[in-house]
Amino acid sequence: MTTPAVAYPDRSVVSCHDCGALYRRIDPGVAAKAKCPRCGALLYYSKPNSIDRSLNLHLAALIFLVLANIFPFMTFKLEGREQESTLISGVIDFYNQGLWPLAALVLLATVLIPFVKIVSTIYVLAMVQYGRTTRRLATIFRYIEVMHPWAMMEVYLLGVLVAIVKLSDMATIEFGTALWCFVILIILLAAGESALDPGEVWDRLDRRRADKGTGPAQAPPDRRVRPFGCHSCGLVTYLDRTAEASHPHCERCGGTLHWRKTNSLARSWALVITGFILYIPANLYPIMTVISFGKGAPDTIMSGVIHLIEAEMWPLALLVFFASVTVPVMKLLGMSYLLISVQRGSHWRPRDRTLLYRIVEAVGRWSMIDIFMISILVALVKLGSIATIEPGVGATSFAAVVVITMIAAMTFDPRLIWDAMEERTDGGAAR
Ligand SMILES: [Zn+2]
Ligand SMILES: [Zn+2]
Repeated sequence: MTTPAVAYPDRSVVSCHDCGALYRRIDPGVAAKAKCPRCGALLYYSKPNSIDRSLNLHLAALIFLVLANIFPFMTFKLEGREQESTLISGVIDFYNQGLWPLAALVLLATVLIPFVKIVSTIYVLAMVQYGRTTRRLATIFRYIEVMHPWAMMEVYLLGVLVAIVKLSDMATIEFGTALWCFVILIILLAAGESALDPGEVWDRLDRRRADKGTGPAQAPPDRRVRPFGCHSCGLVTYLDRTAEASHPHCERCGGTLHWRKTNSLARSWALVITGFILYIPANLYPIMTVISFGKGAPDTIMSGVIHLIEAEMWPLALLVFFASVTVPVMKLLGMSYLLISVQRGSHWRPRDRTLLYRIVEAVGRWSMIDIFMISILVALVKLGSIATIEPGVGATSFAAVVVITMIAAMTFDPRLIWDAMEERTDGGAAR
């Protein structure tokens, strides 16, 4: 790695995550937030007593995560027989049926990633609280952000709800202690995450935070220099325009600095096209088979929705239809539209297109409801010929569509939407 000709971080400015606009950083005051006037993204906010409160809530969440994994989750009772399940029973059953990609996905999203994320958040916040800041802490904190969309416990809870309603007319379901612990865990974690002000953690982790407020508040007049906003921690570093080739790193968090995400359009297109292709088997093949008193009935995504409508479970039918049919199609079409509009240099409603991007990015994980529901049904309903639910290959394709479209949204750089606007005005990043 060679040292770029010009490289200096500027802590007095903040770069908008969604559109790349630069703003002078001002103290937002207690419990206030600053929004980007151009695209509406949240620039930074401050919360009173943020680190202490978040640390306590995460500690409580860890206790309930352990409890949720020890106790039985649910019990299925039919014809005098009963089947108990725990949080990871579905994972074991997927694995035993040879569907190891699904087993790995459910294990990661509902147990492993939440556990690693909670433990590392506690570690970072406790160290920051005691004033021990090292470079390694910054790296760990950066990875916590990366893990965030993949911890899907609240989506799993909705899957549990759908599974319970589906089974309610077939058998008796008893809620275990773990289910209640799981609900409390989700509430604690949501409170802990919303209490946290990442900007404050980054400030405290910043070994040179004494420099804050010095340095130029505006982009320097030198046209060869560009402001690189760090994707992970938001620190703005002024670099030579040619510096990107030498893979510069952020001084504060150690993440690689890119002017725009590398090959964003080509990579997103590849993922979106893969998503379209996998969407076909995901809908054609059964996602599960319900065997009841010896007779088996394979269910595709659509037939599952139709069964719910026939049983007059309208709210649930709408929920499953929205999460499993509307959301994946909307994501694939929405991403295609964003990619085409950027490639054509469109100037049409950039703010609305940025909003579309935010929606596509936020709703993606909720499509996992069906996959989690299957993992619960498979673990609960295994009473041989009386009642058994087996997962189908359609489920693997569908899970792949969800994961691939999530990565496609992460690969897309929303600042590209705004680059076309800047080329029209002054062609520079200075503001
Ligand atoms: Zn913005
Ligand atoms: Zn950084």
